[in-house]
Amino acid sequence: MSVKRDYYEILEINRDASQSDIKKSFRSLARKFHPDKNPDDPESELKFKEVQEAYAILSNPTEKRKYDTYGHEGPGGSPFGPGGFQGVNISVEDLFGGGFESVFSSIFGSSSPRRNKRQRGSDLLVSHTIPFEALMNGCEDSLEFDVLKTCKDCNGLGTKNIEDVRDCPACDGRGRIQRIERLGPFTQQVVSDCQSCKGEGRIIQNPCPSCRGDGRSYQTKKVQFTVPPGIESGQRLRMSGYGESSKSENGESGHLYIEIDVQEHEWFERDGADLLMALPLSFTDLVLGTTVEIPHIDGELLKIKIPPGSKPSQTISIKNRGLPSNRTRNGRGSIMVLLKLDIPKKISRTFKKKLIEIKDEMSYSSEELEEKIRKEARSRRNS
Ligand SMILES: [Zn+2]
Ligand SMILES: [Zn+2]
Repeated sequence: MSVKRDYYEILEINRDASQSDIKKSFRSLARKFHPDKNPDDPESELKFKEVQEAYAILSNPTEKRKYDTYGHEGPGGSPFGPGGFQGVNISVEDLFGGGFESVFSSIFGSSSPRRNKRQRGSDLLVSHTIPFEALMNGCEDSLEFDVLKTCKDCNGLGTKNIEDVRDCPACDGRGRIQRIERLGPFTQQVVSDCQSCKGEGRIIQNPCPSCRGDGRSYQTKKVQFTVPPGIESGQRLRMSGYGESSKSENGESGHLYIEIDVQEHEWFERDGADLLMALPLSFTDLVLGTTVEIPHIDGELLKIKIPPGSKPSQTISIKNRGLPSNRTRNGRGSIMVLLKLDIPKKISRTFKKKLIEIKDEMSYSSEELEEKIRKEARSRRNS
């Protein structure tokens, strides 16, 4: 665990900064580290949470005074409760307007109007398989999925009749319960979710049968998306707003993450933008050389030239016919072809006869054999 940084330092401001300076600095830093701008970047995520926490404290006059006096070691532990600061959901749009202020002012429960918890809906993860061929040019794709969305039968109200929605008597419709805790000479206001209404602030008497009062129900949705060329298995595409609807009235929907699974190719294996394959050849093709043509995923035939005198386990590299890459000049990786000697398991009688005819020509004298053994041994020692 690293040492907790000073809130003023985090927001890059002086101790005597005004509220408007604090806000200005927070807004620009939050925009910089917002997860929408830094997808899959844990460091920015941490920074984003850090500036949020600093702003939550410094924008609240009571908490700021406490922090100015005691620093992080104030009486009564973390002002956010035992779990510490949990982060809040603010969108990039919020950071342009003033939408984030109410989110922060509700954290400490001071004069919070009812149902102001603007919670983003949950994110959703689905996996989606694409054919290997799609890696070459990318593709337009779509998929159907089931997701919790605002119930159409009750428009998210949870009941068909608005009369059936009552303010929760336990919390007076606030969704939160405040109590004062005493700790030595200090008193502290502690706010927690109301148990009776689970923080909703309302109680529903005749719940909508489609959503059982939740206000959301599972619905089948379709999403269209673009798969970029050269994507790797396990990479995720993020579709903002396609996740679950928020439970709170004006909250945004969560994200849908599409995890791409690339189907295996019949013979290619992949190494980044390079494609690897093995090519079985007969002894004569290796000795005499040959050219083979096979279909390729870029639509053109792949011509592989095997020079005379090639050896098994040699590789032939064909440039610019691999997958799209931004590391090479014309933007494509290579194909690496590993040559293999293919020994037939069964041979016909006539073929066998022919082989026996040339056998003597291909065999070595004992001197030649010894020389070859010596050469092999030398090259093994030197390698
Ligand atoms: Zn409903
Ligand atoms: Zn309640």
